[in-house]
Amino acid sequence: MTDQFTQSPDRTLDPQDWDGMRQLAHRMVDDGIARLQGLRDGPVWQPMPQDMRVAFAGPVPLGPEPLEDVYADVMAHVLPHAMGNIHPRFWAWYMGSGNLTGAMADFLAAIDGSNLGGGDTGANLVDRQVTDWLRQIMGFPAEASGTLVSGGSMANIIGLMAARNAMAGIDLHHAGLADMPRPLRFYASDQVHNCHMKAMNLLGLGGKALCRIPSDADFRMDVSALQTAIAADRAYGLTPACVIATAGTTNTGAIDNLTALADLCRAEGLWLHVDGCIGALLQIAPYTHDLVDGIERADSLALDLHKGLHAPFDVGCALLRDRRTHRQTFAETAEYLQTTTRGLAAAEFLHDYTLETSRGFRALKIWMMLRHHGVEAFGRIMDQTVAQARYLTSRIMAEPDLTLMAPTATTVICFRHDPGDMAEPALKAHNTEIMLRLQEGGVAVISDTTLRGKHTLRLAICNHRTRTEDLDLLLHEVLRIGHMLLAPDHETRCEPHGS
Ligand SMILES: *Cc1c(COP(=O)(O)O)cnc(C)c1O
Repeated sequence: MTDQFTQSPDRTLDPQDWDGMRQLAHRMVDDGIARLQGLRDGPVWQPMPQDMRVAFAGPVPLGPEPLEDVYADVMAHVLPHAMGNIHPRFWAWYMGSGNLTGAMADFLAAIDGSNLGGGDTGANLVDRQVTDWLRQIMGFPAEASGTLVSGGSMANIIGLMAARNAMAGIDLHHAGLADMPRPLRFYASDQVHNCHMKAMNLLGLGGKALCRIPSDADFRMDVSALQTAIAADRAYGLTPACVIATAGTTNTGAIDNLTALADLCRAEGLWLHVDGCIGALLQIAPYTHDLVDGIERADSLALDLHKGLHAPFDVGCALLRDRRTHRQTFAETAEYLQTTTRGLAAAEFLHDYTLETSRGFRALKIWMMLRHHGVEAFGRIMDQTVAQARYLTSRIMAEPDLTLMAPTATTVICFRHDPGDMAEPALKAHNTEIMLRLQEGGVAVISDTTLRGKHTLRLAICNHRTRTEDLDLLLHEVLRIGHMLLAPDHETRCEPHGS
Protein backbone atom coordinates (compact mmCIF):
# COMPACT_ATOMS: atom_id res chain seq x y z
CA MET A 1 0.00 0.00 0.00
CA THR A 2 2.64 2.48 1.11
CA ASP A 3 4.93 1.45 -1.74
CA GLN A 4 2.24 1.95 -4.30
CA PHE A 5 1.40 5.33 -2.79
CA THR A 6 4.94 6.69 -2.86
CA GLN A 7 5.95 5.14 -6.18
CA SER A 8 2.97 6.12 -8.32
CA PRO A 9 3.98 8.01 -11.49
CA ASP A 10 3.70 11.79 -11.63
CA ARG A 11 0.15 12.69 -12.37
CA THR A 12 -1.04 15.82 -14.11
CA LEU A 13 -4.20 17.15 -15.64
CA ASP A 14 -2.35 18.27 -18.76
CA PRO A 15 -3.28 16.44 -21.97
CA GLN A 16 -1.21 13.41 -22.92
CA ASP A 17 -1.98 14.07 -26.56
CA TRP A 18 -1.44 17.78 -27.04
CA ASP A 19 -2.10 17.66 -30.78
CA GLY A 20 -5.40 15.86 -30.36
CA MET A 21 -6.42 18.35 -27.71
CA ARG A 22 -5.49 21.25 -29.98
CA GLN A 23 -7.67 19.84 -32.76
CA LEU A 24 -10.62 19.39 -30.46
CA ALA A 25 -10.17 22.88 -29.02
CA HIS A 26 -10.16 24.35 -32.53
CA ARG A 27 -13.36 22.48 -33.28
CA MET A 28 -14.97 23.93 -30.16
CA VAL A 29 -14.10 27.43 -31.33
CA ASP A 30 -15.43 26.74 -34.85
CA ASP A 31 -18.65 25.26 -33.47
CA GLY A 32 -19.07 28.21 -31.11
CA ILE A 33 -18.68 30.75 -33.87
CA ALA A 34 -21.08 28.83 -36.14
CA ARG A 35 -23.60 28.80 -33.33
CA LEU A 36 -23.50 32.58 -32.96
CA GLN A 37 -23.70 33.06 -36.72
CA GLY A 38 -26.81 30.89 -37.01
CA LEU A 39 -28.52 32.11 -33.86
CA ARG A 40 -31.33 34.02 -35.54
CA ASP A 41 -32.52 30.98 -37.47
CA GLY A 42 -33.06 28.77 -34.43
CA PRO A 43 -35.68 28.87 -31.67
CA VAL A 44 -35.10 31.33 -28.86
CA TRP A 45 -35.62 28.58 -26.29
CA GLN A 46 -36.91 25.03 -26.37
CA PRO A 47 -37.93 22.85 -23.46
CA MET A 48 -35.86 19.70 -22.99
CA PRO A 49 -37.76 16.51 -23.81
CA GLN A 50 -38.36 14.31 -20.79
CA ASP A 51 -36.27 11.41 -22.11
CA MET A 52 -33.28 13.65 -22.63
CA ARG A 53 -33.26 14.66 -19.00
CA VAL A 54 -31.96 11.21 -17.99
CA ALA A 55 -28.60 12.25 -19.44
CA PHE A 56 -28.23 14.32 -16.28
CA ALA A 57 -28.99 11.49 -13.87
CA GLY A 58 -25.84 9.41 -14.40
CA PRO A 59 -23.49 8.30 -11.62
CA VAL A 60 -20.41 10.12 -10.35
CA PRO A 61 -17.75 9.76 -13.08
CA LEU A 62 -14.99 7.97 -11.18
CA GLY A 63 -12.95 7.03 -14.23
CA PRO A 64 -11.94 8.94 -17.37
CA GLU A 65 -13.98 9.42 -20.53
CA PRO A 66 -12.76 10.78 -23.88
CA LEU A 67 -13.21 14.54 -23.99
CA GLU A 68 -14.74 14.15 -27.48
CA ASP A 69 -17.63 12.23 -25.89
CA VAL A 70 -18.12 14.76 -23.13
CA TYR A 71 -18.09 17.56 -25.68
CA ALA A 72 -20.59 15.71 -27.89
CA ASP A 73 -22.89 15.56 -24.87
CA VAL A 74 -22.57 19.31 -24.34
CA MET A 75 -23.45 19.94 -27.98
CA ALA A 76 -26.37 17.52 -27.95
CA HIS A 77 -27.92 18.14 -24.56
CA VAL A 78 -26.74 21.39 -23.08
CA LEU A 79 -26.32 24.09 -25.74
CA PRO A 80 -29.60 23.37 -27.58
CA HIS A 81 -31.38 24.05 -24.30
CA ALA A 82 -29.63 27.25 -23.35
CA MET A 83 -31.61 30.09 -21.82
CA GLY A 84 -31.73 31.90 -25.15
CA ASN A 85 -30.80 35.31 -23.78
CA ILE A 86 -28.22 35.68 -26.55
CA HIS A 87 -30.95 35.24 -29.21
CA PRO A 88 -32.23 38.39 -31.01
CA ARG A 89 -35.80 37.82 -29.73
CA PHE A 90 -35.10 37.31 -26.04
CA TRP A 91 -36.53 40.14 -23.92
CA ALA A 92 -37.36 38.54 -20.56
CA TRP A 93 -36.44 39.85 -17.09
CA TYR A 94 -33.36 41.91 -17.79
CA MET A 95 -30.36 40.19 -19.31
CA GLY A 96 -27.55 40.98 -21.64
CA SER A 97 -26.99 39.05 -24.83
CA GLY A 98 -23.28 38.27 -24.59
CA ASN A 99 -20.65 38.74 -27.29
CA LEU A 100 -17.91 36.74 -28.93
CA THR A 101 -15.04 39.00 -27.90
CA GLY A 102 -16.07 38.57 -24.28
CA ALA A 103 -16.38 34.81 -24.70
CA MET A 104 -12.87 34.54 -26.15
CA ALA A 105 -11.61 36.76 -23.34
CA ASP A 106 -13.13 34.43 -20.74
CA PHE A 107 -11.14 31.58 -22.28
CA LEU A 108 -7.94 33.64 -22.24
CA ALA A 109 -8.60 34.71 -18.65
CA ALA A 110 -8.78 31.07 -17.63
CA ILE A 111 -5.57 30.36 -19.54
CA ASP A 112 -3.85 33.27 -17.74
CA GLY A 113 -5.18 31.75 -14.55
CA SER A 114 -4.24 34.64 -12.25
CA ASN A 115 -6.00 35.09 -8.95
CA LEU A 116 -7.17 38.69 -8.87
CA GLY A 117 -7.10 38.88 -5.10
CA GLY A 118 -3.81 40.68 -5.55
CA GLY A 119 -0.30 40.34 -6.89
CA ASP A 120 2.00 42.25 -9.19
CA THR A 121 0.58 40.88 -12.43
CA GLY A 122 -0.60 42.10 -15.79
CA ALA A 123 -4.03 40.88 -14.79
CA ASN A 124 -3.99 43.17 -11.75
CA LEU A 125 -3.21 46.17 -13.99
CA VAL A 126 -6.03 45.19 -16.35
CA ASP A 127 -8.47 44.97 -13.42
CA ARG A 128 -7.42 48.36 -12.11
CA GLN A 129 -7.59 49.95 -15.53
CA VAL A 130 -11.07 48.58 -16.18
CA THR A 131 -12.45 49.91 -12.90
CA ASP A 132 -10.80 53.25 -13.61
CA TRP A 133 -12.30 53.37 -17.10
CA LEU A 134 -15.70 52.68 -15.57
CA ARG A 135 -15.10 55.42 -13.01
CA GLN A 136 -14.31 57.88 -15.81
CA ILE A 137 -17.23 56.75 -17.97
CA MET A 138 -19.64 57.32 -15.08
CA GLY A 139 -18.22 60.77 -14.29
CA PHE A 140 -16.89 59.87 -10.83
CA PRO A 141 -14.00 61.91 -9.35
CA ALA A 142 -10.36 60.81 -9.45
CA GLU A 143 -10.44 59.77 -5.77
CA ALA A 144 -13.22 57.29 -6.48
CA SER A 145 -12.56 53.57 -6.61
CA GLY A 146 -14.21 50.50 -7.99
CA THR A 147 -14.26 46.75 -7.71
CA LEU A 148 -15.44 44.10 -10.13
CA VAL A 149 -17.87 41.59 -8.64
CA SER A 150 -20.15 38.82 -9.84
CA GLY A 151 -23.04 41.09 -10.78
CA GLY A 152 -25.52 43.70 -9.71
CA SER A 153 -26.59 42.01 -6.50
CA MET A 154 -23.03 41.88 -5.19
CA ALA A 155 -22.29 45.40 -6.44
CA ASN A 156 -25.27 46.64 -4.43
CA ILE A 157 -24.10 44.74 -1.34
CA ILE A 158 -20.65 46.35 -1.65
CA GLY A 159 -22.18 49.82 -1.85
CA LEU A 160 -24.69 49.25 0.95
CA MET A 161 -22.08 47.75 3.25
CA ALA A 162 -19.87 50.82 2.75
CA ALA A 163 -22.93 52.99 3.45
CA ARG A 164 -23.78 51.08 6.62
CA ASN A 165 -20.25 51.26 7.99
CA ALA A 166 -19.78 54.92 7.08
CA MET A 167 -23.09 55.95 8.67
CA ALA A 168 -23.03 53.68 11.74
CA GLY A 169 -21.16 56.15 13.92
CA ILE A 170 -19.27 53.21 15.49
CA ASP A 171 -16.51 51.00 14.11
CA LEU A 172 -18.23 47.90 12.80
CA HIS A 173 -14.91 46.07 12.34
CA HIS A 174 -14.97 45.71 16.09
CA ALA A 175 -18.39 46.57 17.46
CA GLY A 176 -21.67 45.02 16.37
CA LEU A 177 -24.96 46.49 15.33
CA ALA A 178 -26.27 45.81 18.84
CA ASP A 179 -23.80 48.40 20.12
CA MET A 180 -25.41 51.15 18.08
CA PRO A 181 -27.40 53.62 20.12
CA ARG A 182 -29.99 54.12 17.39
CA PRO A 183 -30.93 51.80 14.53
CA LEU A 184 -30.07 52.79 10.96
CA ARG A 185 -32.75 53.44 8.37
CA PHE A 186 -32.38 52.92 4.63
CA TYR A 187 -34.91 54.20 2.07
CA ALA A 188 -35.89 52.94 -1.36
CA SER A 189 -38.99 53.13 -3.52
CA ASP A 190 -41.59 50.37 -3.60
CA GLN A 191 -40.07 49.41 -6.97
CA VAL A 192 -36.64 48.51 -5.53
CA HIS A 193 -35.02 45.23 -6.64
CA ASN A 194 -35.28 42.34 -4.19
CA CYS A 195 -31.48 42.02 -3.94
CA HIS A 196 -31.67 44.97 -1.54
CA MET A 197 -33.81 42.93 0.83
CA LYS A 198 -31.17 40.21 0.72
CA ALA A 199 -28.57 42.89 1.42
CA MET A 200 -30.49 44.16 4.46
CA ASN A 201 -30.64 40.62 5.75
CA LEU A 202 -26.94 39.98 5.11
CA LEU A 203 -25.89 43.28 6.67
CA GLY A 204 -27.76 42.41 9.85
CA LEU A 205 -30.07 45.38 9.50
CA GLY A 206 -33.18 43.34 8.79
CA GLY A 207 -35.91 43.99 6.27
CA LYS A 208 -37.61 46.44 8.59
CA ALA A 209 -34.61 48.77 8.28
CA LEU A 210 -35.54 49.34 4.64
CA CYS A 211 -38.32 51.90 4.44
CA ARG A 212 -40.28 51.56 1.20
CA ILE A 213 -41.30 54.93 -0.17
CA PRO A 214 -44.32 54.97 -2.49
CA SER A 215 -43.67 55.60 -6.17
CA ASP A 216 -45.59 58.11 -8.26
CA ALA A 217 -47.65 57.60 -11.42
CA ASP A 218 -44.40 57.19 -13.37
CA PHE A 219 -43.12 54.58 -10.89
CA ARG A 220 -40.44 56.96 -9.57
CA MET A 221 -39.78 57.46 -5.88
CA ASP A 222 -42.01 60.18 -4.42
CA VAL A 223 -39.37 62.59 -3.14
CA SER A 224 -41.66 64.53 -0.82
CA ALA A 225 -42.88 61.28 0.75
CA LEU A 226 -39.22 60.39 1.28
CA GLN A 227 -38.60 63.71 2.99
CA THR A 228 -41.57 63.15 5.28
CA ALA A 229 -40.37 59.63 6.16
CA ILE A 230 -36.87 60.87 7.01
CA ALA A 231 -38.26 63.58 9.29
CA ALA A 232 -40.61 61.12 11.00
CA ASP A 233 -37.79 58.61 11.57
CA ARG A 234 -35.54 61.27 13.09
CA ALA A 235 -38.34 62.35 15.40
CA TYR A 236 -38.82 58.70 16.38
CA GLY A 237 -35.12 58.34 17.29
CA LEU A 238 -33.88 56.35 14.32
CA THR A 239 -30.78 57.26 12.27
CA PRO A 240 -31.64 57.92 8.60
CA ALA A 241 -28.54 56.61 6.82
CA CYS A 242 -28.93 55.91 3.13
CA VAL A 243 -31.22 56.47 0.18
CA ILE A 244 -31.18 53.72 -2.44
CA ALA A 245 -32.15 55.31 -5.73
CA THR A 246 -32.91 53.11 -8.71
CA ALA A 247 -31.72 54.16 -12.16
CA GLY A 248 -33.93 51.84 -14.17
CA THR A 249 -36.38 49.76 -12.15
CA THR A 250 -36.90 46.13 -13.01
CA ASN A 251 -40.68 46.44 -13.30
CA THR A 252 -40.90 49.39 -15.69
CA GLY A 253 -37.41 50.80 -16.28
CA ALA A 254 -38.29 54.01 -14.41
CA ILE A 255 -35.43 56.20 -13.24
CA ASP A 256 -35.75 57.91 -9.87
CA ASN A 257 -35.12 61.66 -9.86
CA LEU A 258 -31.41 61.36 -9.15
CA THR A 259 -30.71 65.08 -8.97
CA ALA A 260 -33.49 65.69 -6.45
CA LEU A 261 -32.37 62.69 -4.40
CA ALA A 262 -28.73 63.82 -4.48
CA ASP A 263 -29.83 67.30 -3.27
CA LEU A 264 -31.93 65.77 -0.51
CA CYS A 265 -29.13 63.46 0.62
CA ARG A 266 -26.71 66.35 0.75
CA ALA A 267 -29.14 68.50 2.74
CA GLU A 268 -29.93 65.66 5.17
CA GLY A 269 -26.41 64.25 5.43
CA LEU A 270 -27.43 60.87 4.00
CA TRP A 271 -25.49 58.44 1.83
CA LEU A 272 -26.79 58.14 -1.73
CA HIS A 273 -26.53 54.69 -3.25
CA VAL A 274 -27.70 54.25 -6.83
CA ASP A 275 -28.74 50.86 -8.17
CA GLY A 276 -27.81 51.44 -11.79
CA CYS A 277 -27.99 47.83 -12.94
CA ILE A 278 -30.40 48.69 -15.73
CA GLY A 279 -29.91 52.36 -16.49
CA ALA A 280 -26.48 53.56 -15.35
CA LEU A 281 -24.78 52.86 -18.65
CA LEU A 282 -27.16 55.27 -20.38
CA GLN A 283 -24.46 57.68 -19.21
CA ILE A 284 -22.46 56.72 -22.33
CA ALA A 285 -25.42 57.03 -24.73
CA PRO A 286 -24.95 60.07 -27.02
CA TYR A 287 -28.68 60.93 -27.26
CA THR A 288 -30.27 59.65 -24.06
CA HIS A 289 -27.63 60.21 -21.38
CA ASP A 290 -29.69 63.01 -19.82
CA LEU A 291 -32.04 60.31 -18.49
CA VAL A 292 -29.46 59.61 -15.77
CA ASP A 293 -28.44 63.18 -14.98
CA GLY A 294 -27.12 63.36 -11.43
CA ILE A 295 -25.91 59.75 -11.27
CA GLU A 296 -22.33 60.96 -10.92
CA ARG A 297 -23.26 62.46 -7.55
CA ALA A 298 -23.84 59.05 -5.93
CA ASP A 299 -21.69 57.97 -2.98
CA SER A 300 -21.87 54.45 -4.30
CA LEU A 301 -23.12 53.03 -7.57
CA ALA A 302 -23.89 49.50 -8.71
CA LEU A 303 -23.28 48.66 -12.38
CA ASP A 304 -24.22 45.45 -14.12
CA LEU A 305 -21.82 44.77 -16.95
CA HIS A 306 -23.40 41.51 -18.07
CA LYS A 307 -26.51 43.55 -18.79
CA GLY A 308 -25.73 46.87 -20.47
CA LEU A 309 -22.30 45.91 -21.80
CA HIS A 310 -23.40 42.40 -22.83
CA ALA A 311 -20.37 40.82 -21.21
CA PRO A 312 -20.74 37.06 -20.77
CA PHE A 313 -21.96 36.23 -17.25
CA ASP A 314 -20.92 37.14 -14.71
CA VAL A 315 -19.56 40.58 -14.00
CA GLY A 316 -20.73 43.71 -12.24
CA CYS A 317 -18.97 46.68 -10.70
CA ALA A 318 -19.35 48.75 -7.56
CA LEU A 319 -18.03 52.31 -7.72
CA LEU A 320 -17.38 54.23 -4.49
CA ARG A 321 -16.98 57.98 -4.45
CA ASP A 322 -14.32 57.83 -1.74
CA ARG A 323 -11.52 55.27 -2.03
CA ARG A 324 -10.56 55.53 1.64
CA THR A 325 -14.07 54.74 2.83
CA HIS A 326 -14.21 51.89 0.35
CA ARG A 327 -10.98 50.34 1.62
CA GLN A 328 -11.80 50.94 5.26
CA THR A 329 -15.01 48.97 4.83
CA PHE A 330 -13.40 45.82 3.50
CA ALA A 331 -9.70 45.71 4.42
CA GLU A 332 -8.77 43.34 7.24
CA THR A 333 -5.19 42.42 8.11
CA ALA A 334 -3.81 38.89 7.94
CA GLU A 335 -0.26 37.78 8.64
CA TYR A 336 -0.35 35.43 5.64
CA LEU A 337 -1.45 38.22 3.28
CA GLN A 338 1.09 41.01 3.54
CA THR A 339 2.26 43.18 0.69
CA THR A 340 5.99 43.51 0.11
CA THR A 341 8.06 46.20 -1.56
CA ARG A 342 9.41 43.78 -4.18
CA GLY A 343 8.33 40.50 -5.72
CA LEU A 344 4.88 39.17 -6.53
CA ALA A 345 3.17 40.65 -3.48
CA ALA A 346 4.38 44.18 -4.31
CA ALA A 347 0.97 45.39 -5.47
CA GLU A 348 -2.14 46.62 -3.74
CA PHE A 349 -4.37 43.74 -2.70
CA LEU A 350 -7.59 44.05 -4.67
CA HIS A 351 -9.41 41.90 -2.11
CA ASP A 352 -9.17 44.88 0.25
CA TYR A 353 -12.05 46.41 -1.74
CA THR A 354 -14.52 43.56 -1.72
CA LEU A 355 -15.82 40.55 0.20
CA GLU A 356 -14.08 37.88 -1.88
CA THR A 357 -10.46 36.91 -1.33
CA SER A 358 -9.76 34.90 -4.48
CA ARG A 359 -11.16 36.62 -7.53
CA GLY A 360 -11.39 35.53 -11.14
CA PHE A 361 -10.02 37.52 -14.06
CA ARG A 362 -13.39 38.89 -15.16
CA ALA A 363 -11.69 42.19 -15.92
CA LEU A 364 -10.16 40.79 -19.11
CA LYS A 365 -13.45 40.45 -20.97
CA ILE A 366 -14.39 44.05 -20.19
CA TRP A 367 -10.93 45.28 -21.13
CA MET A 368 -10.92 43.44 -24.46
CA MET A 369 -14.55 44.31 -25.28
CA LEU A 370 -14.11 48.01 -24.56
CA ARG A 371 -10.91 48.17 -26.60
CA HIS A 372 -12.22 46.08 -29.49
CA HIS A 373 -15.56 47.87 -29.94
CA GLY A 374 -14.82 51.20 -28.26
CA VAL A 375 -17.02 52.75 -25.58
CA GLU A 376 -18.88 54.76 -28.23
CA ALA A 377 -20.25 51.59 -29.83
CA PHE A 378 -21.74 50.53 -26.50
CA GLY A 379 -23.26 53.98 -26.06
CA ARG A 380 -24.86 53.82 -29.49
CA ILE A 381 -26.30 50.40 -28.66
CA MET A 382 -27.86 51.91 -25.52
CA ASP A 383 -29.45 54.61 -27.69
CA GLN A 384 -30.61 52.03 -30.23
CA THR A 385 -32.26 50.03 -27.45
CA VAL A 386 -34.12 53.05 -26.09
CA ALA A 387 -35.22 53.95 -29.64
CA GLN A 388 -36.52 50.40 -30.14
CA ALA A 389 -38.44 50.59 -26.86
CA ARG A 390 -40.04 53.87 -27.98
CA TYR A 391 -40.87 52.43 -31.39
CA LEU A 392 -42.58 49.41 -29.82
CA THR A 393 -44.43 51.68 -27.40
CA SER A 394 -45.87 53.77 -30.21
CA ARG A 395 -46.93 50.66 -32.11
CA ILE A 396 -48.64 49.27 -28.99
CA MET A 397 -50.46 52.55 -28.46
CA ALA A 398 -51.71 52.43 -32.05
CA GLU A 399 -53.16 48.90 -31.62
CA PRO A 400 -56.73 48.99 -30.27
CA ASP A 401 -56.42 45.51 -28.70
CA LEU A 402 -53.19 46.27 -26.84
CA THR A 403 -52.86 48.41 -23.73
CA LEU A 404 -49.68 50.07 -22.54
CA MET A 405 -49.50 49.36 -18.78
CA ALA A 406 -46.79 51.84 -17.73
CA PRO A 407 -45.01 54.78 -19.28
CA THR A 408 -41.92 53.58 -21.17
CA ALA A 409 -39.08 55.38 -19.43
CA THR A 410 -36.09 53.55 -20.86
CA THR A 411 -35.92 50.05 -22.29
CA VAL A 412 -38.71 48.18 -20.48
CA ILE A 413 -42.16 48.02 -22.07
CA CYS A 414 -45.21 46.85 -20.12
CA PHE A 415 -48.34 46.03 -22.11
CA ARG A 416 -51.07 43.45 -22.42
CA HIS A 417 -53.57 42.07 -24.86
CA ASP A 418 -56.93 43.44 -23.80
CA PRO A 419 -59.69 43.34 -26.39
CA GLY A 420 -62.17 44.57 -23.76
CA ASP A 421 -64.80 42.99 -21.50
CA MET A 422 -62.34 40.82 -19.55
CA ALA A 423 -61.95 40.93 -15.77
CA GLU A 424 -58.48 41.06 -14.19
CA PRO A 425 -58.17 37.32 -13.42
CA ALA A 426 -59.19 36.41 -16.97
CA LEU A 427 -56.79 38.98 -18.42
CA LYS A 428 -53.98 37.52 -16.34
CA ALA A 429 -54.72 33.97 -17.49
CA HIS A 430 -55.09 35.11 -21.10
CA ASN A 431 -51.84 37.08 -21.23
CA THR A 432 -49.91 34.42 -19.32
CA GLU A 433 -51.02 31.91 -21.97
CA ILE A 434 -49.80 34.25 -24.73
CA MET A 435 -46.43 34.57 -22.98
CA LEU A 436 -46.06 30.81 -22.53
CA ARG A 437 -47.00 30.03 -26.12
CA LEU A 438 -44.46 32.54 -27.38
CA GLN A 439 -41.80 30.85 -25.25
CA GLU A 440 -42.79 27.27 -26.05
CA GLY A 441 -43.06 28.02 -29.75
CA GLY A 442 -39.49 29.30 -29.71
CA VAL A 443 -40.71 32.58 -31.25
CA ALA A 444 -39.75 35.00 -28.49
CA VAL A 445 -39.11 34.99 -24.78
CA ILE A 446 -40.75 37.75 -22.75
CA SER A 447 -41.74 37.78 -19.08
CA ASP A 448 -44.50 39.30 -16.98
CA THR A 449 -45.03 41.24 -13.80
CA THR A 450 -47.76 42.86 -11.72
CA LEU A 451 -48.10 46.63 -11.54
CA ARG A 452 -50.35 47.94 -8.77
CA GLY A 453 -52.45 44.81 -8.87
CA LYS A 454 -52.60 44.54 -12.65
CA HIS A 455 -50.91 41.74 -14.54
CA THR A 456 -48.83 42.83 -17.49
CA LEU A 457 -46.56 41.36 -20.11
CA ARG A 458 -43.13 42.85 -19.94
CA LEU A 459 -40.37 43.28 -22.51
CA ALA A 460 -36.91 44.31 -21.40
CA ILE A 461 -34.83 45.11 -24.44
CA CYS A 462 -31.21 44.59 -23.48
CA ASN A 463 -30.08 42.96 -26.68
CA HIS A 464 -27.64 44.20 -29.30
CA ARG A 465 -28.97 41.65 -31.81
CA THR A 466 -32.60 42.80 -31.79
CA ARG A 467 -33.83 44.45 -35.00
CA THR A 468 -37.02 46.41 -35.57
CA GLU A 469 -38.41 43.49 -37.58
CA ASP A 470 -38.07 41.28 -34.48
CA LEU A 471 -40.32 43.65 -32.55
CA ASP A 472 -42.82 43.73 -35.43
CA LEU A 473 -42.88 39.93 -35.42
CA LEU A 474 -43.50 39.90 -31.67
CA LEU A 475 -46.53 42.20 -31.92
CA HIS A 476 -47.86 40.21 -34.85
CA GLU A 477 -47.58 36.99 -32.84
CA VAL A 478 -49.07 38.47 -29.65
CA LEU A 479 -52.10 39.64 -31.61
CA ARG A 480 -52.39 36.39 -33.54
CA ILE A 481 -52.17 34.19 -30.44
CA GLY A 482 -54.39 36.55 -28.46
CA HIS A 483 -57.16 36.47 -31.06
CA MET A 484 -56.81 32.74 -31.57
CA LEU A 485 -57.21 32.07 -27.84
CA LEU A 486 -60.39 34.13 -27.75
CA ALA A 487 -61.96 32.48 -30.79
CA PRO A 488 -64.80 30.23 -29.58
CA ASP A 489 -63.36 27.08 -31.19
CA HIS A 490 -59.74 27.96 -30.51
CA GLU A 491 -58.56 24.57 -29.19
CA THR A 492 -59.11 22.99 -32.58
CA ARG A 493 -57.18 25.78 -34.26
CA CYS A 494 -54.19 25.73 -31.93
CA GLU A 495 -50.88 24.83 -33.44
CA PRO A 496 -49.06 22.20 -31.40
CA HIS A 497 -46.39 23.58 -29.09
CA GLY A 498 -42.91 23.65 -30.46
CA SER A 499 -44.01 23.38 -34.08
C1 LIG B 1 -30.48 42.77 -12.47
C2 LIG B 1 -30.68 43.72 -11.35
C3 LIG B 1 -30.10 43.50 -10.11
C4 LIG B 1 -29.35 42.24 -9.79
O1 LIG B 1 -28.23 42.11 -10.60
P1 LIG B 1 -27.59 40.66 -10.86
O2 LIG B 1 -26.51 40.94 -11.84
O3 LIG B 1 -28.68 39.81 -11.41
O4 LIG B 1 -27.08 40.16 -9.55
C5 LIG B 1 -30.25 44.47 -9.16
N1 LIG B 1 -30.96 45.59 -9.38
C6 LIG B 1 -31.56 45.82 -10.56
C7 LIG B 1 -32.32 47.08 -10.76
C8 LIG B 1 -31.45 44.89 -11.59
O5 LIG B 1 -32.05 45.10 -12.76
